[in-house]
Amino acid sequence: MTGKEIRAQFFNYFQRNGHALVESSNLIPRNDPTLLFTNAGMNQFKDVFLGMEKRDYLRAVSSQKCVRAGGKHNDLENVGRTARHHTFFEMLGNFSFGDYFKKEAIAFAWAFLTKELGLSKDRLYVTVYTDDDEAADIWHNQEGVPRERIYRFGEKDNFWSMGDTGPCGPCTEIFWDNGPGTGCGSPDCAVGCDCDRYMEIWNNVFMQFNRSKDGVLTPLPKPSVDTGMGLERISAVMQGVTSNYDTDLLQGIIRHIEKVSGKKYRDDEKDDVSMRVIADHARAVTFLICDGVLPSNEGRGYVLRRIMRRAARHAKMLGIAEPVLYRVVDAVNMMMGDAYPELLEREQYVKKVILAEEERFIETLDRGLAILNEETAALKAKGEKVISGEVIFKLYDTFGFPVDLTADIVESEGFTLDEDGFALCMEKQRVKARENWKGSGETGLADIYKELHGTGVSTDFLGYSEQTAFSTIS
Ligand code: ATP
Ligand code: MG
Ligand code: MG
Ligand code: MG
Repeated sequence: MTGKEIRAQFFNYFQRNGHALVESSNLIPRNDPTLLFTNAGMNQFKDVFLGMEKRDYLRAVSSQKCVRAGGKHNDLENVGRTARHHTFFEMLGNFSFGDYFKKEAIAFAWAFLTKELGLSKDRLYVTVYTDDDEAADIWHNQEGVPRERIYRFGEKDNFWSMGDTGPCGPCTEIFWDNGPGTGCGSPDCAVGCDCDRYMEIWNNVFMQFNRSKDGVLTPLPKPSVDTGMGLERISAVMQGVTSNYDTDLLQGIIRHIEKVSGKKYRDDEKDDVSMRVIADHARAVTFLICDGVLPSNEGRGYVLRRIMRRAARHAKMLGIAEPVLYRVVDAVNMMMGDAYPELLEREQYVKKVILAEEERFIETLDRGLAILNEETAALKAKGEKVISGEVIFKLYDTFGFPVDLTADIVESEGFTLDEDGFALCMEKQRVKARENWKGSGETGLADIYKELHGTGVSTDFLGYSEQTAFSTIS
C-alpha cells in the first residue's frame, strides 16, 4: 500500500464510522501564541476540547501537517539519527468531542490496524498510563490483548500534552515490533526503549484536563478523544520496511536528490545520512514557506532558517556546490501535491524564497566551515575539546551559522560548545547595538524579503520574539 492509499483508507474507515473529514490546518497555529508550529492533529480542535467552540460534528478525522522542530515537541536533533523521526510529518487522527471515549477509541484503533490493514497481532504491543486500569482492562477484556503485551508508563510517555498549557490527558499507545536484528540490539531492548525496534505508531489520548500556566489540571467539560498516527511510520509498517525513509513517501524525494547530486542512495552511509536529512528538511521547508513562514532571525522564521542551513550544509557534504534545495521542491510537490494543493498553487513563490536564502548562505558557508576546521585542528593539537564562545559567535554573527548547526558539525568529533561564552558575546553585542541604535534606519532581513512578501503570504508570529539562538541546544 502506498502512503496515499493508507491515508485514503484511514479517511474511509473513520468516515464510515460517523467521522466528518476535516482538512489539515495551517502549520502556523491560528491565534495560539503558546505554540511554535502545529505539532499535532488536535491543535485546530483545541477550543472544541476546551468547550469554548462548537462544531456541527462530534466526530472528526483528519490528516494534519505537523512540524516538530522547536517548542515542547522537538525532533530536529533526531532527524538523520533515527529511522522514525521527521521535522515535518503527517499525522492521521480521529477525534471525539464529548462523544465516544476509551472503549470505542480502543476498538476503532485495534480494528483499523488488525482488520482494515491486516497487521499481525503478534507484532503489536500497547501501553497505558500508570494507573489507567480501565484502559488496560479494555485492551485485555474487550480486544483480547494478553496482559504481558500491555505495558504501563508514567507522565513522560503516557500523559500527553500539546504544550505547557492546554488540553491534556492520559493516553494509550500502540507499538510495532520491527523484529530481531533491528534497533539497538541490546538484550534488554523492549517497548519503551528509545531505539527503532519497538516503534510507536499510534497514540490515543483520553482528553480529560486543561492544564493552566501554574500547572493545575481542571477537568474538561466532556471527556474526549484525540488520536495521532504518523503516516510515514504506518507506511513503513505496511510496506515491510524498517525506516520511514524507505517508504514511497520519502523515497520519491530521495530519488530526486540522487539525480541532483549524482550519488546513489545506499552507496555510502555518510552520504545516506545527508540524503535523508535533505529529504526531510526539503519537506519541512517547502510546507513551512507554503504556509507563510519566511526565513528570519527570530521566532518561527529562525527555526525555518536553521532547518534550511542544515540542509545546505548536507548538500555541501554531498559535494553539491550550487543551491539545490529549491530544486527538491519539485519532488515534494510531486509526492504531496494532490493531498495538499496549496503546494502547487504557491510553487513558484516557495522556490523563490528558498533560492534567495540558499544563495545568501552558500556565500558564507565555505568560509565559515574553513574557520571551524582551523579551530578544531588547533584545539586537537592542544588536546582540547571545547569550541570557544568567541568562535561560535563569529560563525553566528558573520557567517550566519546557527549555533545548533555549529554543534551538529563538530559533535561527531567529540567537541562541545562553550554556551556560556557564547551567551556573553551575544549580550555584549546587544549592549553595543543598543548604544548605536539611536538615529539608525530599519534595514536588514525585513527589506530583503519585502519583495517576496508582496505575493500575499505573510508571517504573523506573535510569541517567541526573544527565543535565543540556543533554544534547541539544551
Ligand atoms: P516518539 O516517542 O516516537 O518521539 P511521540 O510520543 O513524541 O513519538 P506523539 O506526540 O504521541 O509522538 O504523536 C503521535 C504519533 O505521531 C506518534 O505515535 C508517531 O506515529 C507520530 N510521530 C510523532 N513524532 C513524529 C516525528 N517526529 N516524525 C514522524 N512521526 C512522528
Ligand atoms: Mg517524540
Ligand atoms: Mg512516545
Ligand atoms: Mg506518543
